[in-house]
Amino acid sequence: MRRSGAAAIRAGALVREVCEQVEADIVGQGGGIAFPVQSSRNALAAHYCSAPDDTTCYAEGDLAKLDLGVHVDGWVVDTATTVNVGDVAHNRPLVEAAHAALAAAISAAAPGVSVRTLSRVLEQEVRRRGLRPMRNLCGHGVGRWTVHCAPAVPNVLAPGDPDHALAAGSVIAIEPFATDGSGEVAEHGVAEVFRVPPAAPLDDAAEISPGLRAAIAAFRGLPFARRQLRQFPTESVHEALAGLRRRGMLQAYAALREAWGRPVAQAEHTLLFRADGVEVLTA
Ligand code: MN
Ligand code: MN
Repeated sequence: MRRSGAAAIRAGALVREVCEQVEADIVGQGGGIAFPVQSSRNALAAHYCSAPDDTTCYAEGDLAKLDLGVHVDGWVVDTATTVNVGDVAHNRPLVEAAHAALAAAISAAAPGVSVRTLSRVLEQEVRRRGLRPMRNLCGHGVGRWTVHCAPAVPNVLAPGDPDHALAAGSVIAIEPFATDGSGEVAEHGVAEVFRVPPAAPLDDAAEISPGLRAAIAAFRGLPFARRQLRQFPTESVHEALAGLRRRGMLQAYAALREAWGRPVAQAEHTLLFRADGVEVLTA
């Protein structure tokens, strides 16, 4: 799915169609969509998710991330890659750095290894190429109906960060980013990724139609996008999300943009730490 999705990222292709095709492939192969497929381009590092009417196309020279999550009975894996659209020379080092950092971290990963060791490897592999990792984006644990849980796996080793040994049974997404910019992201634009915690009392929101409440509840705390609710009228989805936000039941995730507006590459795999080694679940 990641490979076929990446192959579909070409100049002129619609971002929304590529993401929806990947989502259809996930479901077609018997998986569940753990979060809406996201494709952030250039200085957007993460969380760009097409609106239902998004007409954005990929263009020659784009550095296009493809970030997807699959669940089976709630158990989540998370993976991403970056496509250098048109294979332009100035974007190649960024893509290579992200993939090399991920490969180096996977090589260093073993049962009992510390998170700080992985952060050090990730940071060094990006920096020795003269690029910067992303200080405020982290890898993370994944769980059942949970895309992000402890421990965080920072892409930059910070002195005060707690350490954590990754015991057998840990399932961890590692996601290095490489940029020639500042190495920090900030929120940018309107959120298109949402989350309603599974314990939220959705039935209190009686102004939302029962069908729409059931559809939102069916995400079971996983992130979703408005385009996954397109069977409902646009206006009622808009009002439902506004109402949930007023009630404090809605989390919204805007796109994350590199602070200097410089391009960003990302690579991500989910690893299972076993007693006898590490398995890349998203290879
Ligand atoms: Mn991801
Ligand atoms: Mn992730």
